[in-house]
Amino acid sequence: MQSNRNCYKKHFSRIYVEKAAFDYPIAKEILSGFPDAIVVEIRHYKDLFNRPGQDASMQRHSRSLILAVERPPFLYPGARVCQDFGNDAFYYTSTVKNCLFSCDYCYMQGMYQTAYPVIFVNFDDYLSEIDRMSVSKKLYICLSYDTDLIAMDGLTGYLGRWIDALSLRPCVTAEVRTKGAPQFLRPLPNVIYAYTSSPERVAALYEKGTPAVSARLESAGRAILDGARVRLCFDPMIYIRDWKKAYDDMLTQVSEYLSFEKLEDVSVGGFRMPKEFIRHLRKQHPDSAVVQYPFENSDGICHYPKALEEEMIGYLSDALAERMPKEKIFVIKQEEGEEVWNKGNAQS
Ligand code: SF4
Repeated sequence: MQSNRNCYKKHFSRIYVEKAAFDYPIAKEILSGFPDAIVVEIRHYKDLFNRPGQDASMQRHSRSLILAVERPPFLYPGARVCQDFGNDAFYYTSTVKNCLFSCDYCYMQGMYQTAYPVIFVNFDDYLSEIDRMSVSKKLYICLSYDTDLIAMDGLTGYLGRWIDALSLRPCVTAEVRTKGAPQFLRPLPNVIYAYTSSPERVAALYEKGTPAVSARLESAGRAILDGARVRLCFDPMIYIRDWKKAYDDMLTQVSEYLSFEKLEDVSVGGFRMPKEFIRHLRKQHPDSAVVQYPFENSDGICHYPKALEEEMIGYLSDALAERMPKEKIFVIKQEEGEEVWNKGNAQS
């Protein structure tokens, strides 16, 4: 007889803390939220995070948490594979690595050895670096790159910290990308909230743990009404049977919640992922068609066959162009032979 009992321990019943992280107020605050957790001191988060042979699929049922102190550099130049939306000084930063959602196609599942999130508690060091760099450049920074900052916000409170910091730094523009559906987002002229939208069927099949697309769009529509700059990301486009209808339906659904003209812009991109990440993902998701697809491989990057990729991107871009100005539609194109694929699709 099968038991319905959940045999897994609660999430974060174990928290690993770097020795150097204990003294930071953010670490103390997070630890105080888990009074029953077993706290284990570690030397360096990478001892755990990079340890080979971990079973990330099992770990996703009962995640531990890692608190660490990030070392420089705190900002990284954005991969060209990720859209820079016309910004020259395009960087990303990671105050958190890993995500509480579990999309089958997430590059982090292919790149990282573990499903345990790491929170870097030396938040102020990131701001110091931004202040140093923004003296000479007009920075555009993706804050939600190796995580979904909004999905993690209940644990970290980092969204509010970032928004407070950005309100004092009007020359720095930031993007917060999410598959979440927050009730409220504080509008700021230098912050773009980027919601990733997929056909509902794609979300139900492959974007595990995420809010329904309707909830994301409702949240996006509300944010626009509140005065926020909102971007929609259709990236990566995922191939499913009847994909044209699925994406048509998605656009219809978008228009039920918001007006395309009110969007800051949109992005469209095809699925792309380094071969070694795909290998890792396939082991974790043996039954998931999205990662088991027989991709083409161009210089170590897996992607849909060129003709299909172009058809998908062209179809959606054309449909968007009927609804909004073309200059607001950013399309990521494959540039074969160039070292532009260092990770894959921008998250989240
Ligand atoms: S794709 Fe985005 S939302 Fe999904 S698991 Fe990765 S970071 Fe989280």
